[in-house]
Amino acid sequence: MARSFFGGVHPKGYKELTKEKAPVILQPKLVSIAMNQHIGRPCSPLVQVGQRVLVGQKIGDGEGLCVPVHASVSGTVVAVENHATPGGTYTLCVVIENDGRDTLFPGLKKRENIDGLSPEELIAIIREAGITGMGGAGFPTHVKLSSGLGKVDTVIVNGAECEPYITADDRLMRESPERIIRGLQVIQKILRPKRTAIGLENNKPAAAAAMKQALPADMELLTLKVRYPQGAEKQLIQAVTGRQVPPGGLPAQVGCAVFNAATCAAICDAVYDGLPLIRRIITVTGQAIREPGNFLAPIGTYYSELIEAAGGFVKAPDKVLCGGPMMGIAQHRLDCGTIKGNNALTCLLENKKSSYEPQCIRCGKCVEVCPMHLQPVFLHRASTKSDLAKLEKGNVMDCIECGCCAYTCPAEIPLVQSFRRGKQLLRAQKAKEAAK
Ligand code: SF4
Ligand code: SF4
Repeated sequence: MARSFFGGVHPKGYKELTKEKAPVILQPKLVSIAMNQHIGRPCSPLVQVGQRVLVGQKIGDGEGLCVPVHASVSGTVVAVENHATPGGTYTLCVVIENDGRDTLFPGLKKRENIDGLSPEELIAIIREAGITGMGGAGFPTHVKLSSGLGKVDTVIVNGAECEPYITADDRLMRESPERIIRGLQVIQKILRPKRTAIGLENNKPAAAAAMKQALPADMELLTLKVRYPQGAEKQLIQAVTGRQVPPGGLPAQVGCAVFNAATCAAICDAVYDGLPLIRRIITVTGQAIREPGNFLAPIGTYYSELIEAAGGFVKAPDKVLCGGPMMGIAQHRLDCGTIKGNNALTCLLENKKSSYEPQCIRCGKCVEVCPMHLQPVFLHRASTKSDLAKLEKGNVMDCIECGCCAYTCPAEIPLVQSFRRGKQLLRAQKAKEAAK
C-alpha cells in the first residue's frame, strides 16, 4: 500500500542521472578525516604527524556524547590541523596520505555468531565502530539504541531517499540488501520491537525487489508515495504507523526508532566483520558534472577527488551542495573531506538569482506544504525582526529545514536561511539565560 503524510512537495527527481550507476570503488590520494562528524563532543586525535596508520584503526575518540573516528585508508598521517568541512566550519582533521595498499588494522575482530552477546555488549560494539546516523543528522547510533531500550515497539528503516538527485541508498539496497537486513536483525536483538518495517518510495522498484528477496518473515516492506520529505523521521513515522511525534518530541516517545538503510549496513559490518564506519556510497551528481555516478569512497575523500572521478565539471557550477538541492549545504571550496553523514555532492548550473528584493505576497503556499504544520510566512517575519517571542511561539525549533516552503514560495524568499538564523537567535538566548 502507498502511504504518505501532511504537506510536502513534488520536486523533479533527476535520479535518472545516477540510479543505474553501480558504485565505483575509489582509492583517493589523501583523506581528511574530521574529528567532529557527529552531534556531540568532538574527538581528540590519537595519532601524530608521521605515524603510519591502517584501515579501521581508531584515530580519534573522546568522553561523553562522542563517537570515535577511524582511518579510512592505510598510509601516513601528514597533518593534524584545522581544515574546512562540509558544514562550512573549520574543524580539527587528521590528513592521511593513502599508500593504496588498503591494509587492515589487525585488531579488527570478526564474529560468526552473536547469540551470546547482550544488548549492552552490541551497543558497545556499535559505539566503538563510530557509527552515527548516515541519513545526514549524525546522531550517535549507540545513544539512539540505548535510549530506546524498553521504550520502542516499532523499528523503521528509512530507505525513502526522497531528496532529488540522490541515489546512494537506492544502490545500497540493490547491491547489499543482506547487509541491511543483518544489521536490522542486530537492532531487533537490541530493541526487541513488536514490529519492524522498511519504508521506501515507490520510485525504486529494483531496490524494492532486492530487499523483498532478502526479507525475513518478521519484517515488512512498505512502499510509500513519492512525496518530499517522505524520508524525514517524523513524516516517515506518521506514514508507517499513523503516530505523530509531538512538537519538540523524540520518536521514542511514540514507541518508534528510525534507522537509515546505510546505518543498518554499517551495523552489520561492525558486528560481524569488526569493521568500523570508514566508507560509504556517495552520489556525485548534477548538471555541472560530466559523468554523474555513485562512488564507494573512504570517509574523508576530498570533494575535488570525487569530482575528478566523476569526469570533472562540464562547466563551472553555480552551486555545489553537500547533499541534495532541498536540504544540502552550499560549499564554497572543494578541499574538504566527506563525513559519515554525507550521501551526495550535487553540482548545479543555472542557480536562479532574482534581480529584485524578495517580497512576501501572502499567498499562503508555504503554509500548505509545511509537513511540520508550521506557519513559515509568520516565522520569516519574526526572524527578520529578531522577534524571539514570536519565533518561540511559532515553534521555529520544530522546523526540519526540509525546504518545502522555499521551494514553493513564488517570491523566492530564502526561508530556510531565515529559520536557521531564527534558531540560532533562540539558542543564543537560551545559552545566555543558562549562564546567568
Ligand atoms: S518551515 Fe521548516 S519544516 Fe516547514 S516547510 Fe519550511 S523548511 Fe520545511
Ligand atoms: S509562499 Fe512565500 S510569498 Fe507566499 S506567503 Fe509564504 S513566504 Fe509569502
